[in-house]
Amino acid sequence: MITPVLPTYARADLEFEKGEGPYLFTVKGERYLDFGAGIAVNALGHAHPVLVSALTEQAQKVWHVSNIYRIPGQEKLARKLVDLTFADTVFFTNSGAEALECAIKMARRYHYAGGNPERNELITFEGAFHGRTLATISAGGNRKYMEGFGPDMPGFQHLPFGDMKALEAAIGPKTAGILIEPIQGEGGIRVLPGEQLRRIRALCDEAGILLVLDEVQTGFGRTGRLFAHELSGVTPDIMAVAKALGGGFPVGACLATETAARGMTVGTHGSTYGGNPLAMAVAEAAVGMMAAPEFLAHVRAIGLKLRQKLAMLADRHPAIIESVRGEALMLGIRTHVPNTDLVQALRDEHLLTVGAGDNVVRLLPPLIIDESHLDEAVEKIERACMTLEAQLAQAATAAQGAQ
Ligand SMILES: *Cc1c(COP(=O)(O)O)cnc(C)c1O
Repeated sequence: MITPVLPTYARADLEFEKGEGPYLFTVKGERYLDFGAGIAVNALGHAHPVLVSALTEQAQKVWHVSNIYRIPGQEKLARKLVDLTFADTVFFTNSGAEALECAIKMARRYHYAGGNPERNELITFEGAFHGRTLATISAGGNRKYMEGFGPDMPGFQHLPFGDMKALEAAIGPKTAGILIEPIQGEGGIRVLPGEQLRRIRALCDEAGILLVLDEVQTGFGRTGRLFAHELSGVTPDIMAVAKALGGGFPVGACLATETAARGMTVGTHGSTYGGNPLAMAVAEAAVGMMAAPEFLAHVRAIGLKLRQKLAMLADRHPAIIESVRGEALMLGIRTHVPNTDLVQALRDEHLLTVGAGDNVVRLLPPLIIDESHLDEAVEKIERACMTLEAQLAQAATAAQGAQ
């Protein structure tokens, strides 16, 4: 019999009722160290007092007003994001996929407004993840997510990740732009080298097309910079963000330059909830903290330490850990065992992590962690590696006995 909750997730049998900083507590009172952070959402940890008061203070005033009125919280947060980034203008959404939908529409509309409506195709990449709406599964690089949901939405051309030759050849008269994650998250923490992003920017400029970045997962300090593209010195024309933006309150945004947004005039796009006063109050408080230079410096320092400790673990457990990759606190462990086994072994040690493509386990801790949390996590990873090694040894003995 089908469950009342549509069974589209293979859920772990864990129920959390409370969170505090980087910890989650189950209904039975067991404590877990959360290095998944709701998939890079709880960047400020759980129940951050500043976010709690931003939310509860706004909740006393007004929860929702339509976008047919001015919303002061939106104006304030948009101004803040514009001041902090390449962007001149911002559209607020409730999720990452909706931010991407806005970005895709904006890219097409840019060329329509410029008299080139035939430029309506975005080039995207294998391994990419842009969300679960019809347009974003068509844009994404995982064909499994499309299965049974056809017809495929036209307007996306998929290329191998990092194949610059294929990219140069693919740009044509129908190309509207290039949509890419600076570091693929779901795809397995696959880092696009800075020189490739710079080359992609140059290709866009030469062809008169748009660079659209998906920083839904990489954004707001995860990579030690406010946005991952800052690592390469390149700026996009359009950028989708979400996840950490609300620190756990559902909110996303599509940021753009004035030029890229030239087609988005009155009536061209909308959302009932997008930019809701509750979301704006929380996001403004969250961005204020995450954009602080000392906060970002902390992420870089702690990320480097975690990376070094993981490298030592990889040396000690070569049968389990193949390699470690990523940037600051967006790290992936590529493993020799099935990644689901490592996630489970870590969960048994009360460390929460997230699987990804390419047999990778993602470490996406809250950005507020300190060195004590690193040590705790590394101990748990070490114990999980030893458990898996013992299982491998047992399996090898059993196989020998069977011969
Ligand atoms: C999570 C994610 C999305 C989709 O965001 P939702 O809020 O789940 O719609 C899009 N792009 C990237 C890179 C993501 O990590």
